[in-house]
Amino acid sequence: MLRYAPSMDRLPNALGLLVVLLVGLGAVIVPDPPAPLGTDAPLGEFSAARAAEHIDVVAAEPRPLASPGHTAAREYLVGTLDDLGWDTTVQEGIGWFSPTDSPTRRGAALSNIVATLPGADPTGTVVLAAHYDTVTASPGASDDGIGIGTVLETARALSDGERPRNNVVVLLTDGEERGLLGARLFTAETPPFPGPMVVLNHEARGNAGMPLTFRISSPNADLVRILSQAPGALADSFTQTAFEALPNDTDFRRFDEAGLHGYDTAIAGGSAYYHTPLDTPDRLSRSSLQQMGDVALATARTLTVTDLTALDAGTDVVTTTPWGLLHYPRWVEVALTLALAAAVAALAVIRVRRRDASAGRIAGAAGVALFAAVAAGGAAFLPWWLSRRAVPGLGSVPIGEPYRPGFYQLAAVVAAAAVLTTVYVAVRRRFGAPAFAVGALMVVAVVALAGLPFLGVATPLVLIALPAALGVLVAEAIPQRRSRWRIVAMAAGLVPAALVAVPAVLASFDAGVTFGAPLAGAFVAVLFAVLLPLTAPLLPREGAAPFAVVGAFAVVACTLLGGYTNRDGATAPRQEELFYSLDADRGDAVWASPGRPRSDWSAELLTESPTPLPDRFPWRPGTSLAHGPAPVASLEPPRVEMLSDIESDGGRMVQLRLSSPRGAPTLGLWVDGATVRAATVDGSPVDPGANFGFVFTTASTDGIEVRLDLDTTGPAEDVEVRVADVTSNLSVVPGYTPPEDKVVVGPAVVVTRSVHP
Ligand SMILES: [Zn+2]
Repeated sequence: MLRYAPSMDRLPNALGLLVVLLVGLGAVIVPDPPAPLGTDAPLGEFSAARAAEHIDVVAAEPRPLASPGHTAAREYLVGTLDDLGWDTTVQEGIGWFSPTDSPTRRGAALSNIVATLPGADPTGTVVLAAHYDTVTASPGASDDGIGIGTVLETARALSDGERPRNNVVVLLTDGEERGLLGARLFTAETPPFPGPMVVLNHEARGNAGMPLTFRISSPNADLVRILSQAPGALADSFTQTAFEALPNDTDFRRFDEAGLHGYDTAIAGGSAYYHTPLDTPDRLSRSSLQQMGDVALATARTLTVTDLTALDAGTDVVTTTPWGLLHYPRWVEVALTLALAAAVAALAVIRVRRRDASAGRIAGAAGVALFAAVAAGGAAFLPWWLSRRAVPGLGSVPIGEPYRPGFYQLAAVVAAAAVLTTVYVAVRRRFGAPAFAVGALMVVAVVALAGLPFLGVATPLVLIALPAALGVLVAEAIPQRRSRWRIVAMAAGLVPAALVAVPAVLASFDAGVTFGAPLAGAFVAVLFAVLLPLTAPLLPREGAAPFAVVGAFAVVACTLLGGYTNRDGATAPRQEELFYSLDADRGDAVWASPGRPRSDWSAELLTESPTPLPDRFPWRPGTSLAHGPAPVASLEPPRVEMLSDIESDGGRMVQLRLSSPRGAPTLGLWVDGATVRAATVDGSPVDPGANFGFVFTTASTDGIEVRLDLDTTGPAEDVEVRVADVTSNLSVVPGYTPPEDKVVVGPAVVVTRSVHP
């Protein structure tokens, strides 16, 4: 039996730990978001107050495609850019998107706003981008009002003074929320700007927090260098990889696919407000707006004087420190990761040689450490997940986030720490503390090596673990009797760990509590692993039960406090999702909502258990919807006018006009009993196929002209065309009384009917 006999008494260890944790705390507190500047700020600077004046106008009402608010916003934006003296045009076209979760194609008539300030001696073009459409019923003060405000105020500041060297374009895209349609239209028909283009795209997945440049096009070395000169810039290569796991996307994807250079910058705090009627100007953080604007203006200023043809081909890894951006070439990340692996291997050899641990024990401890890290991630996920299961109204409708996430975040961190401590104390005797400390570091090193194929994944692990491992190696070189100096060496090695890991735990929650908690749990596990050499003497050699019990109590307490701070009535109104569908053929109607009812109010409307309702909501054929009978509203169904119907080899060419007598901007059509060989809507081709269907949004009041080339092998009467039109005002339903303490997210009023052409 190996014996681990710490020769040092515990006080220096406790002091070392305290210093490390204080450094970590400082790393979280030091980054101070900028104070928003007023309307009297110097004209060469970005002023959140001036930017907010634009947001107040455009976010006065929702701006979904083809709505009055959408038109009003476009007119205001065009007028504002005209007043700046920029050459402003509206790029019109049709865009289509085929979602992966439904065979229904989604299309729209689009109007991008493109304004140009020609450069004095251009080498290329700098594009300031945001989208001006919103989802249904959301004023979109943050999504993407913060982008609109940032772009307009930056454009104003750039117009002030000397003409910039490069062209500058303001691009306010349309139809982003329908599948990045406007961005594709822009890149497909890019106006003739010679030379390279660099796009600064601005987004929001919440209404607060620090703007993070979470994606940069590749190769990125010059772009990273330019961004790092902007005060307050935050960027992270790791998030670029992590973002791909989230069910979100932005216009940046289309710009990147088209080969443009660019940055994608977004805020993600306050995500419970995202895509809801509560995304209002008064709730948008001015400090977030100021910081996004400061970075946009500084970056754009540099880019307007840079030779854009000379952007180099290097690839850098970038991460954020309390002092700004840290970036280095990709090979440095590889070298540092290999150095970590070597340092951990050296440590293992030393332990075995000194008979502190055997190879078998180190390997066994590594296995347990990996299990503990996974368990910590899972335990971090549970408090909020269980809370949402128990009380569905706690989470926002679009992405299931709480208004006040603080206690749920704390519960996640405490749960992870409790699991790690419990497992460690439970197995410590079996493996010995030295073996476990090396085994845990080994897991970090192996995960970093495994992450090497993905840019930036190894970096946070290496920045945390490499100095820590070196600190232990230095401590090992110091004689046992100088135990205080050994602790100083270990604590010094842990300072970078604290600077990176503690902010990383917090930053993980930028992905929301649902996705962020397991990631935060994983970072807690890494921090726990590197702290072990320092904390081992502070932890008991056996008796894990008290840690499990106290940890469980603390997690339950935090979770209950989360429930209390988010109790009904204590926060912004709770959210509901409610659709209404009238079947004009049968003369009956239903209420429906995805998932279970979220309150007593919706439970009264949604009396039937969830099931797909493909006839009522043809564009969501697979979505399970709780539903219930609804009053029949007197709504005229969509009109189908047959224009022509001619036989063509083995099928029929049908031409029809689909319109909405009730003025619905969104029209839908689905074909049953025939395969569609080709189709157009207002002359724009749509992907054909079996189970053909589309929804299309247009401001045109005459409806749309649809041409279908049908492959009809069965009898003609088997061919059925289902049509629908969609609005969003639920108060057209008799007796609908929206409760005052609820908001309805993404309301839809659908009228369906079938025709046999
Ligand atoms: Zn957006």
